[in-house]
Amino acid sequence: MDLSPVRVRFAPSPTGRMHIGNARSALYPFLLARRTGGTFILRIEDTDQKRYDPTAERELIEGLRWLGLDYDEGPDIGGLCGPYRQTERRESYHEHAWKLVELGHAFPCFCTPERLSQVRQEQMAAKQNPRYDGHCRALDADEARRRAQSGEKFVIRFKMPKEGSITATDLLRGSITTENSALDDSVLLKSDGLPTYHLAAMVDDHLMGITHVIRGSEWLPSMPLHMHVIRAFGWDAPQFVHLSVFLKPSGKGKLSKRDTAQALKDGYSIFLGDMKDLGYTPEGVLNWIALMGWGVSEDDVLTLDEMIARFNVDSLTPSPAAINFAKLDHFNGTHIRLMQPADLAGRVKPFLTGAGYAVDDEKLLKIIPLIRERLVTLDDCLQFAGFFFKDDVSPDPQELVAKDLTASQSADVARKALEILSGLPALTHETAEPPLRQFVEESGLHPNQIFGILRVAVTGQKVSPPLFESMEIIGRETVLARIRRAVDTLAGL
Ligand code: GLU
Repeated sequence: MDLSPVRVRFAPSPTGRMHIGNARSALYPFLLARRTGGTFILRIEDTDQKRYDPTAERELIEGLRWLGLDYDEGPDIGGLCGPYRQTERRESYHEHAWKLVELGHAFPCFCTPERLSQVRQEQMAAKQNPRYDGHCRALDADEARRRAQSGEKFVIRFKMPKEGSITATDLLRGSITTENSALDDSVLLKSDGLPTYHLAAMVDDHLMGITHVIRGSEWLPSMPLHMHVIRAFGWDAPQFVHLSVFLKPSGKGKLSKRDTAQALKDGYSIFLGDMKDLGYTPEGVLNWIALMGWGVSEDDVLTLDEMIARFNVDSLTPSPAAINFAKLDHFNGTHIRLMQPADLAGRVKPFLTGAGYAVDDEKLLKIIPLIRERLVTLDDCLQFAGFFFKDDVSPDPQELVAKDLTASQSADVARKALEILSGLPALTHETAEPPLRQFVEESGLHPNQIFGILRVAVTGQKVSPPLFESMEIIGRETVLARIRRAVDTLAGL
């Protein structure tokens, strides 16, 4: 692989929430930049005023920060090629659009929306592909410029050659040759004075020295036009990489709004902001999205550093990837288990405090080894560790009654356990387990019957981390008081 330092960018349009597609479009160029010691740029492509969402840029920046995909140049940090928001670069697009007019590769077009719509209808009625009919192509350049300057509404269109063909290369798919006759005179500068993507992105990629354009495959059909624009300016083209699309979990068709809503109902989401709240970790999310479109082995558990060390554009794959949330769970749980206890404690803490628990850090650190194996998402800590931070637990009386025992027999079991435990000088895992196991043996009962009663009595729930370790953390006095209360409850049933 060529390891010369690249200049690459993530160029999202701030039109909505940041989703896993955006995240992946940021991840691969980031990896390439870090692998080659190059530069990763954030550029905000905000020229579509109709779809502009003022909160989207912040969400994108927060999403990148959360994932740890730090950029070297961007709207909030500046850089040598700024500004990094396209609406702040209007002048440059104007100059470039008119430059193309001067060079004979573009023309101002004064056609009204009404005329264009009528042409479109006629073409469709004649079963032709709708496209610009060339009406303003032949206007005299000086005359056109004068009309434009006098305030008449206009757009600037690319003057697509009528003959010949163009070859453009996608690194994953190879060369694609397109007949120019199949291409339209696309709009480069809109009547609101802002550029379309076709102009803005090509100009900026050139001015920002971008070496590799890594973008969604929805842009693949526009690659011939982009190649024309780049050539018309006489520039060198960057390398193009179009990423695979995401398919619905069933693998049948592209992900739709409906699938997104269904995912939320199932406790999943494709939006980064939600994923964080659902207890997913950046490590888990990155690992999951990295492998959707990158041909490293499917089950590879990779940290960001390991991804950087192994990343190679050639191993990206153009085949579509079906969203598989079970894999996300798998990677999330796996990365949780790879975390240092103090790190994991710091990450679960906000979920506990958010649920109203007063968290004691030292205690939480002791709990981490007991729950770590069970966590799929960080918020699972509520279920497995919340009770540790309750002053009191209130078990359901019926749950205190062991399987196949009466309430009174269960009370006897609890009484005996209380006697054993209160006779111990200290209550630790090591001191409590042997005598209780001996009690199980002598009683002829199943361990689950005895430990089940104690678990519900002490933790207030039927499922908890290992009982003896939990009792040690809860502390002798509290454990004894809770068992005593369970005895009373059971005796009163
Ligand atoms: N603004 C474009 C988008 O969000 C960027 C595509 C690109 O990376 O060039 O689809």
